Amino acid sequence: MIIRPLNAIAALCGGAVLNDNGGVVIGGVSINSRTLRPGQLFVPILGERVDGHDFVAGALSAGAGGALWDRNKAVPDALSDAPLILVDDTVAALQRLAANYRDELDLRVIGVTGSNGKTTTKDMVAAVLSETCRVHKTEGNLNNHLGLPLTVLELDESFDAVVLEMGMSEFGEIDFLTRLAKPDVAIITNIGDSHMEQLGSREGIAKAKLEIVAGLRPGGLLLVNGDEPLLREGLRSARLPEGVEVQTFGQQDGSSWVADNISGDAVSSVFDVRGDAELARVALPAAGRHNVSNALAAIAAAKRLGVPAAAIRQGFERLKLTGMRIEPGKAHNGALVLNDAYNASPTSVRAAIDLVAGLTGYRRKWLVLGDMLELGPRENEMHGEVGAYITPLKADAVLTYGTLSRNTAAEAGKQFASDGGEARVLAFDDKGQLTEWLQARIEPEDLVLVKGSRGMRMEEIVHALQRA
Ligand code: ATP
Ligand code: MG
Repeated sequence: MIIRPLNAIAALCGGAVLNDNGGVVIGGVSINSRTLRPGQLFVPILGERVDGHDFVAGALSAGAGGALWDRNKAVPDALSDAPLILVDDTVAALQRLAANYRDELDLRVIGVTGSNGKTTTKDMVAAVLSETCRVHKTEGNLNNHLGLPLTVLELDESFDAVVLEMGMSEFGEIDFLTRLAKPDVAIITNIGDSHMEQLGSREGIAKAKLEIVAGLRPGGLLLVNGDEPLLREGLRSARLPEGVEVQTFGQQDGSSWVADNISGDAVSSVFDVRGDAELARVALPAAGRHNVSNALAAIAAAKRLGVPAAAIRQGFERLKLTGMRIEPGKAHNGALVLNDAYNASPTSVRAAIDLVAGLTGYRRKWLVLGDMLELGPRENEMHGEVGAYITPLKADAVLTYGTLSRNTAAEAGKQFASDGGEARVLAFDDKGQLTEWLQARIEPEDLVLVKGSRGMRMEEIVHALQRA
């Protein structure tokens, strides 16, 4: 983590020290007064409901080494002797601190963006690099204008590399994050349909992700999903910094890195990296073809940093993915439950359906799908399209939860219409009812995939299945 005297911190963030209390030394930065550790710099953030400045006094008495303070606010008498740094805007100062600190660091930076698979790919890159170097990575999903600078401020000479997840919902956000992070390697995992409302079209989404090139260091590497035509197209008009190399990864011919002979089950995958005898039959403890693409991106990044094939294999062996990304578990009766409840968009739901479609050996395959939120004006249609994508060959039954998902059920219902017997597609408005209905019917040899947007909290269904 960053360790600097308060004066030096002020210089890095463009602030003015109010009192430096005889040369206090700051160790680390926090924006949360409840989890703050002694010696850290507390950065108060002005939120919609709360103003972090109200917690500065508490943070200091809990051991904070100092705090930023918005110079537009009067400093209360009680804090007139406190080790404060006055700044124009606390968030901008935090970002500037991180940007300037990053420039002082000598380590490799890998930036990961994309509509889906950022956290997964970030975890994979970190895993394959960890065998040969000391790696830090974005914790969980802290990928925004606060999480990324805070992650940078955790770095120091004890690390050789950092993997930073970069999230966005509007134009300009990735541009900002990448200019701060200055990656040596930038990865674009895929283009989906999230944030359509703000970005207008899938072309717009591709353009917004490609902003990541703006911060690439000269001589850096851009890795993009070659199976996505919009990214290939967008690349033509992207302004690449000097000396930047572009490589593609994918499962179709024509990419620089191609995954061949993909096989797998509900919990793992195996594939070959075309043209690389040392990377034949790579074993990945993650299911789904989309995860093979994520892994291929991680391989390309690792190769760039000189990681040998054996270390890459080892890294995948030890890989632990962040929870609720197709996380396998057992229902109380032994049925396999794939918890993919972290989030959902049309692209990622199709990826999950493809995964289920390819699995064999189960008595019945259930898809339990909740609403996909924040899709914009075409939301009903987009749910319908996902429904139409489900056929009786891909799954045996579909249960939906939520108002929007009625469209999914309606279209899936048409695909299943010729099928007699017990209704195979059912739409529920009540999560408890859905859970009960399913509990009464799943058998030990079944497979259940549960997915929906974060706001739908579909993991409650998974937990109920595990408990019952
Ligand atoms: P967020 O925007 O919420 O941070 P993320 O981009 O970090 O999401 P992950 O958390 O890695 O994405 O994965 C979320 C879900 O997206 C996974 O559970 C999986 O269903 C799907 N997914 C992962 N990788 C891909 C991919 N390459 N293509 C399509 N879908 C994917
Ligand atoms: Mg994420």
